[in-house]
Amino acid sequence: MPLPTDLPVVDHHCHLSPLGEGVAAARRFASAGGTHLFLATQNYSNEVPRSVDDYRVQFEMTEALAYKVRAEAGIEVYVVVSPYPVDLVAAAPLLGLTAALEVHQGALDLAGAWVREHRAVALGEVGFPHFDVPTDVRAAADAAFDHVLSVARDVDCPVVVHSADLAPEQYRDLAARARRAGLPPHRVVKHYARARVPPEERGGVAPSYLARRDLVRDAMGDAGPWFLETDFLDDPSRPGAVLDLATVPRRARAIAEASPGGVERLRVPFVDSVKTVYGWRPEMPVRRGG
Ligand SMILES: [Zn+2]
Repeated sequence: MPLPTDLPVVDHHCHLSPLGEGVAAARRFASAGGTHLFLATQNYSNEVPRSVDDYRVQFEMTEALAYKVRAEAGIEVYVVVSPYPVDLVAAAPLLGLTAALEVHQGALDLAGAWVREHRAVALGEVGFPHFDVPTDVRAAADAAFDHVLSVARDVDCPVVVHSADLAPEQYRDLAARARRAGLPPHRVVKHYARARVPPEERGGVAPSYLARRDLVRDAMGDAGPWFLETDFLDDPSRPGAVLDLATVPRRARAIAEASPGGVERLRVPFVDSVKTVYGWRPEMPVRRGG
């Protein structure tokens, strides 16, 4: 059974690189039935960004990739930008911690301006180093995250959080922290979620589940909001490090083949959750490529 023609098939978090497969990966996604990508920025060079201008160049590369994918693969692409949280840790020894934090916050302000100008739909990835760092660096990362929340509040957009796996109480802590900053918790997404946490224990925060078969199966009965993602890295030096970009449409097709009723449940991650978290519904793209 084919996928319903009016069903968007959405990968909520991936990366593409001009040094990797780029549009070819997006075409593979489209051929498998995918229609929408949330494309997160990444550092496309081997150098740690040292200035807000370095980030501007990086964000513009993401935007250029998004244009190319829309034009050549015929799918819709939503751009998500922010300085990567771990950049702060890498920049601290090069610039000094105070200057590194200034650059990081300046780049977050730039990301907020992009959202305001409708060049991006969310701030991401934001959050924390997923490994131990010195106390002063941890404090700077905390300050940076509070800045993220205030920028998102001001421009009224979601934040896509990079962190270690969260237990229910950590979901609720994250929700409380957002609320303290004036950002409603339904604007917060925990990206790369690998543990299923029931909706009533998430404090309003939406998990974006890695589209592993077991996680998709577990999430299907969940009222939402939740998303599916591959976190595809498009890094030729790390083939197979993450799920392939065609994974979300492949899972959707497997569900459609198993049961027509099941496929309707996919409107939760692909339509309803986008509406809840972002405030709009994904429009079906006009197919040009394929
Ligand atoms: Zn990512």
